[in-house]
Amino acid sequence: MQSQRRARGMRLIDLTDVQLGSSETARRINRDIVLELIRAKQPISRADLSRQSGLQRSTISQIVEQLIGEKWVCEGAVASPPRGRHPTLIELNDDLVVIAVDIHPKEATVAVVDLKGRLLSRSIVPLSSDPAASVRQMTDCMLRMKQDLPRKSIEGIGISLPGRVDPSAQRMIFAPNLRWPDFDLKKVIEKTMGLPVKMENAATACLLSELTFRRIDGIRDIVLVTVSEGVGTGIYANGQLIFGNRGMAGEFGHVSLDPAGIRCSCGRRGCWETFASCRAGLRYYRELRPKATAISFHELLNLAEDGDRYAAEALTKQALYIGRGLQLIIAALSPSVILVAGDITSAWHRFGPAIEKEAAKFTLGGAFPQILPIHEGEIARLRGAAALVFQRLSAHEQQMETNQGLTPSENGQVVG
Ligand SMILES: [Zn+2]
Repeated sequence: MQSQRRARGMRLIDLTDVQLGSSETARRINRDIVLELIRAKQPISRADLSRQSGLQRSTISQIVEQLIGEKWVCEGAVASPPRGRHPTLIELNDDLVVIAVDIHPKEATVAVVDLKGRLLSRSIVPLSSDPAASVRQMTDCMLRMKQDLPRKSIEGIGISLPGRVDPSAQRMIFAPNLRWPDFDLKKVIEKTMGLPVKMENAATACLLSELTFRRIDGIRDIVLVTVSEGVGTGIYANGQLIFGNRGMAGEFGHVSLDPAGIRCSCGRRGCWETFASCRAGLRYYRELRPKATAISFHELLNLAEDGDRYAAEALTKQALYIGRGLQLIIAALSPSVILVAGDITSAWHRFGPAIEKEAAKFTLGGAFPQILPIHEGEIARLRGAAALVFQRLSAHEQQMETNQGLTPSENGQVVG
């Protein structure tokens, strides 16, 4: 029948990174699907893995043995069905952990995160303008954590950064708020720790955390905006993380809204982040109360919560500018969901509506995106840094994989 005939024609294939699918690729994809199923459905029996993946029992057994050997999963409780055999259930291995680092201009948080996204320990390390001394502080902290958890197997180190990372060179190429000259962070940490290091922009890491641990199923167009010392964005479009040439995609924070505006850390004037970052919120407060003592952004939020009308006014202005910048994002990418991370989300009930109202002024057609706060954004950045390692590949490498000739079939699996 006409309606059942498959569409004929050519498929658009990106030939830049094309590689013909091999049985090795197929095995790797099947392994990843089984690992993802275990993550989502654990604890789960081999029989259920077979049923849910559509793979044969023998293939599942081989893959599970491989994953046990690699320490990703372990055999846990024994199921007790009403009748029949009592299968051993498979679950993620709690002893496999990652050291996650979230770098801000003045401090870094170092944490140990397990495969379920739980933080087992966490410390804050002060940073200075000297990258070598700062990295030594971080690695000293990592070594202490490693000593404190002798039974855990550390898979690697994931780092979330306030800047962009060149995906192929794995070096920071744009981090105006960090002010570290060209410094090979990855090489120095790998040498000291003897562990592989993966790095990614904080907003993209945060988005990866939401995709990995929160399981935002079925949504293929998401933009995540981090509002802290600067404003960063991570983009998930058509079901893929977007990096752009040399990893520079998503720098909406440095699009100028006012060429005569104040100087930005990137050297230009009037960038979105000079209006919408936490530093902007504090500046608005100082303009309203020039004689007030210097305060932190947390203190500004507390003042607003305690009824200080100047603090509320400053934060409302910051919220308005966050919303105005979101108009750019909606125009460029038409996401179905925009996630906002950063301290301002702790007062979302007060400032979220101002953000939404301003963003909604840009409505051309179609459905307006949902704008949602991510509470505990700091934890999301750490989990995202961990997810970089747990996924074995940097997000960019994943994109390269999806561009390969072999693509999962409609129900998500490849038979090799
Ligand atoms: Zn800028």
